[in-house]
Amino acid sequence: MMRALLGICLLLITISPAWAQGRAGDREVFSVGTVKASRGQTATGAIEVPAGSDAALSIPVAVAHGAKAGPVLALLAGAHGTEYASIIALEKLIGDIDAKQLSGTVIILPLVNVPSFQKVVPHLNPTDGKNMNRMYPGKVDGTQTDRASYFITTQVVEQADHVIDFHGGDIDESLRPYSYWNKTGRADQDAFSRGMVLAFGLDHIIISADRPKDPKDSRYFENTASTRGKPSITVEAGHAGTVESEDVAVLVNGTLSVMRHLKMLPGTPKPAENPVWIDHLADVAAEQGGIFYPLVKRGAYINAGMKIGYVTDYLGRTLFEARAKEAGVLLYVRAVPSINKGDAVASIGVVGKSP
Ligand SMILES: [Zn+2]
Repeated sequence: MMRALLGICLLLITISPAWAQGRAGDREVFSVGTVKASRGQTATGAIEVPAGSDAALSIPVAVAHGAKAGPVLALLAGAHGTEYASIIALEKLIGDIDAKQLSGTVIILPLVNVPSFQKVVPHLNPTDGKNMNRMYPGKVDGTQTDRASYFITTQVVEQADHVIDFHGGDIDESLRPYSYWNKTGRADQDAFSRGMVLAFGLDHIIISADRPKDPKDSRYFENTASTRGKPSITVEAGHAGTVESEDVAVLVNGTLSVMRHLKMLPGTPKPAENPVWIDHLADVAAEQGGIFYPLVKRGAYINAGMKIGYVTDYLGRTLFEARAKEAGVLLYVRAVPSINKGDAVASIGVVGKSP
C-alpha cells in the first residue's frame, strides 16, 4: 500500500507542469532579445523588432536573473503607452528587484508601445493603428504591432512560467484599481492563478471566463501565456494620464507580494483578505457623440437604471442620458468631455460569488 502510494506520488512529481518547477530559470545566463543576464545580475537591452511593411521598433527590456534558480516571471506594461502609472511602476521595479536576493528570473518590459508613449496616443499604436493588446500571438510578416507581438510571444511568453500584464485607466478613463482572474477551466492552473491574483492584493477581481482558448488566436498578452498552460494575471491601476503615488505603490507592492507567494523573494505575501469578485461587466456605450458630463465617480456603487452621465451637443442641448443596465461597482467612467458615438461611457462590475 505504502509502496503504491509512493509510486503515485513520484508519478505526480514527474508529470507536474513546468510552472511547478521553475525549469526555465535554472540557466547560468538568461537571454531575452539583446539582454544577457548572468546569475545574480540585472542586465538591460531591447527586443529589436526589425522593419517590415513599416518601421522597426526597439522595445526596452530588463532581466533580473536571480542568484538562485526558481520560476521565470514576466512583467509587461505600456501596451497602451499612456497608461502611465503601470509604466512607472515597472520602471521602479527594475531598480527595486535585487537579483542577488532573487530565486528565479524576472523579465521586465516597462514600455511596449513606445510610439504611443512618445506621441501621447491612447489605446493604439500610432504606427499601424492597432491595439497592442489584441494581436497576439502575432505575425512575423505583419505590421509593427503584429511583429512586436510575435517577438514578445517567442522571446518572453515562451520563456516564462507566469506573466503579469499591467494596465490602468487610459487618458480618457477614470479607473479604480482591479485585477483579472482568467478562468481557463483547467482546475490546477486556475487554482494556481487564483493564488497569484489574491497575492497581488487588489480587492476587486474580475472573473474572466470568456477569453479565447486557442493559443493560435490568444489576442491578449496574458491570454497568450494562459492558453499555453502558464498561470498568469492582469492588473490595472492609475487613471486619466496621472501618476499618483498610491497607484504606483499598489502595483509595485502587489508584484513583490506575488514574488513572495511564488517563493522568488523571502518574506510572506500580503493577499487580499475579502476581495469583491466581479462576475461580469455591464459596459455602457455612448449612443450619441458630443460633450460628456459624468455624474458619478470611479469606485461608486451604482444602482440599476441610475443616470451616470449625459451627452450634449456643442450648444448645450442634451442628446443622450447614460444609465446603468445593472447594479455594481463603477470600475471606470469616461474622464474627458469629448465623446463619439459608440465610445465607452463607463464599465460597471457586477458583483458575483467567491469562486
Ligand atoms: Zn491597457
